[in-house]
Amino acid sequence: MPKSEISNEQAACKQYIYRFSDGSAEGDASMKHLLGGKGANLAEMANIGLPVPPGFTISTEVCTYYYDHQKTYPVNLFEKDIPDALNKIEKTLGKKFGDPQNPLLLSVRSGARASMPGMMDTILNLGLNENTVAGLAKKSGNPRFAWDCYRRFVQMYGDVVLDLKPADKKEIDPFEKILEAKKHELNIKLDTEFKVEDLQDIVNKYKAAILEKTGRLFPEDPHEQLRGAIGAVFSSWNNDRAIVYRKLNHIPGYWGTACNVQAMVFGNMGEDCGTGVAFTRDAATGDNIFYGEFLMNAQGEDVVAGTRTPLEIKQLKAENPDIYNQLEDIRSILERHYRDMMDIEFTIENNKLFMLQCRVGKRTGMAAVKIAVDMFNEKLIDEKEALLRIEPEQLNQLLRPVFDLQEKKAAISSGRLLATGLNAGPGAATGKIYFNAVDAYEAGKRGEDVILVRIETSPEDIKGMAVSEGILTERGGMTSHAALVARQMGKVCVVGCGALNIDYQKGELRVHGSSTILSEGDYISIDGSTGEVIAGKVATKNSEIIEVLVDKTLKPEDAQTWPIYKQLMEWADKYRKLNIRTNADQPDQAEIAITFGAEGIGLCRTEHMFFGGERIVAMREMILAENVEGREKALEKLLPYQREDFYGLFKVMGSRPVTIRLLDPPLHEFLPHTDSEIEVLANKIGKPVIVIKERIGALHEFNPMLGLRGCRLGILHPEITVMQVRAIIEAACKIKKEGNEVVPEIMVPLVSTVKELEITNELIHKTAARVIAEQGIVVNYLVGTMIEVPRAAITSDQIATVADFFSYGTNDLTQMGLGMSRDDSGQFLPIYQQQDIFARNPFESIDREGVGRLISISVKDGRAIKPDLKLGICGEHGGDPSSVEFCHQIGLNYVSCSPFRVPIARLAAARAALQG
Ligand code: PEP
Ligand code: MG
Repeated sequence: MPKSEISNEQAACKQYIYRFSDGSAEGDASMKHLLGGKGANLAEMANIGLPVPPGFTISTEVCTYYYDHQKTYPVNLFEKDIPDALNKIEKTLGKKFGDPQNPLLLSVRSGARASMPGMMDTILNLGLNENTVAGLAKKSGNPRFAWDCYRRFVQMYGDVVLDLKPADKKEIDPFEKILEAKKHELNIKLDTEFKVEDLQDIVNKYKAAILEKTGRLFPEDPHEQLRGAIGAVFSSWNNDRAIVYRKLNHIPGYWGTACNVQAMVFGNMGEDCGTGVAFTRDAATGDNIFYGEFLMNAQGEDVVAGTRTPLEIKQLKAENPDIYNQLEDIRSILERHYRDMMDIEFTIENNKLFMLQCRVGKRTGMAAVKIAVDMFNEKLIDEKEALLRIEPEQLNQLLRPVFDLQEKKAAISSGRLLATGLNAGPGAATGKIYFNAVDAYEAGKRGEDVILVRIETSPEDIKGMAVSEGILTERGGMTSHAALVARQMGKVCVVGCGALNIDYQKGELRVHGSSTILSEGDYISIDGSTGEVIAGKVATKNSEIIEVLVDKTLKPEDAQTWPIYKQLMEWADKYRKLNIRTNADQPDQAEIAITFGAEGIGLCRTEHMFFGGERIVAMREMILAENVEGREKALEKLLPYQREDFYGLFKVMGSRPVTIRLLDPPLHEFLPHTDSEIEVLANKIGKPVIVIKERIGALHEFNPMLGLRGCRLGILHPEITVMQVRAIIEAACKIKKEGNEVVPEIMVPLVSTVKELEITNELIHKTAARVIAEQGIVVNYLVGTMIEVPRAAITSDQIATVADFFSYGTNDLTQMGLGMSRDDSGQFLPIYQQQDIFARNPFESIDREGVGRLISISVKDGRAIKPDLKLGICGEHGGDPSSVEFCHQIGLNYVSCSPFRVPIARLAAARAALQG
């Protein structure tokens, strides 16, 4: 992060504070980099005349200054800028900060450029002390309300600023402990049952606990409180959970957060007050309905924390039609203004509505696709914008499994339905129960299918949530932390399942009215589309799109998601420049890929064809042969198999190109390992065990990935190449004779010098010519090479002279370019990512600066020799959206990826083309 080299004089002149008030603001929605998302949208709402309580945003530049200057602030910030801005709020509202008669209270909230829900800190009701609480009591005519605010403030400030937190994951929150003890003492259940003197007693106990455990007195001076809160907000940018969240969401640490200071409005001042959160459309399904929750006589934290289960927004229509109608109006103003689905927070204070936040709403993949297509139909956006609204990875959710209905019915009728909660994140998940995120994370790392089961989740849990198949909570609504984060991560999620009774201490889950007890490690199944929670495993079944496309068990006209998927893919195909191929070795895989839109095969790994049935015996016989004759005899047995394989692929692919790679892996990968396997082979091929063992020993390599593999195999044993080329050309001739088109592309692996390719090429052309002469029919074919060795990449000008095409093998190119074993990097790459050495795993997403540069050099040098050299990529990166974007930018002709990622690559390619 570049240091903000800024002098005191410069800092004194810079604008660090941006004010907003009813009807006008110094900022707007385009200023997220300075004001953060929350601040920019508060300004925008003020500008378009929505009712926003007055306040100001301290810009992200103050946060970066704070970190660059040993946690200090620009000169004048606390001396002049903040007092001036406060003064403005005081004037607007006719209240004064710290005034015992008519105190102004503030909220202090974080807000980064990208939304990081719940990851950073917020403080409400700031400005209260022993004097102002009395003033608030008098002014509101409601002492209970005033003391309730004070109680909440001391708790929040004590936790966030003064850092009184549970010592470990099993300890109960010290403030909750005091609160619960008081309820127990009074024999009451709800917070609302506390009287003024009870709240006063709790406040005193909170302050005493803070002093005892932290050695700090609770500050009475509102200005000191404000300074502490602003510091806590900036510090929270670098708390553990924010750092983890940034890593998961690729948010750079140097952005910093803004800090929003705003006049408090109260949803907890009485029965004509309330607070709520809503989405302008259903964030789970995308349906065009107003979707939200509210609580009367409550503050915002009550809705999201899940401590009270909120009511559906439609009930507000019955309770307070006036406010409901105002909200409906705001809903449509916001959708027309932002042309997107928005997530809003509002408060009602004495029957007056205030908007506290709005931002583009997080949504499931399903909802993203539906909203984009619907908004196109509603003429809010065009098709290009619709494509840009959907993250390619979100399409995964349309391809995700659901429960097999029969299985689910059977499970339910046998009494395994435990309860039904809220359907917060669609899809079906089955896995083992874990009750805390740390254990869930460990289990996930061990490869177990995990369902994280919590009373409610908090931002600390995100690491555990990220590895889970699904998330289930006892408390909380559709906008609780669990629901929001799960949807964003694309996880299956059921929340607010009140019939569950989770006991962390015992590691048990009980269900009200049932004798069932489930323990940690037991299987549980959750349906995030219906909210059902079922004991044990339930088989999952393919999604609608898969049923239509792959299984063909559902008619397109009967599938709800089909038309929107189809529309989206048509748009993607219209704008993308890259062709999309697939990596497939078998006709059935190729068939699936075609239904997903694959336009060719970019990589057929022929080695996968040698494992089935008798083939492996013939393969082993070939490897163990002592001389060329012996090898040729064994290869003759393999020829018909290979020919059939290629024929099958060509038939499915029709006139689409099919790239077949010659044998690549080291030969010992095909040999048996155990004594009994060796004995069976010895009997089959009539060779003594000892001879086989000696040969296996002789083939052993210290670095097989850098050993006898790729084109080196064919240079040492040309008969292998001859057999494979013969099989390819014979299969192509057969197709041709049947009157069909075929376009084989023969690909040579692991080339590092042009000479290797020249030798191999000569053999390929000679063999092909012989077969074509024998068959008496002409087939056209191409011969190209993988570029997967750095030397090949930087000598591409030479290699291009003898290649019809290049295909970048970015798995090996990454391995060799970084000198990092693709099989062993799992032990250190996660730590590398934690330490920001790599932002992304380079085996998942192309390392643009290094490996990407090798590819760019190769593209430039190769095309300088052959301007229309066909270029593609067939490493795993071909299905990664960011790598697809890179491939578009450097002008490749195609990407090739696994069949199920073809739709994702199509969308990623279109977005890359639109983004230019
Ligand atoms: C590659 O190296 O990127 C590649 C596609 O080949 P393989 O993964 O088979 O080594
Ligand atoms: Mg390779």
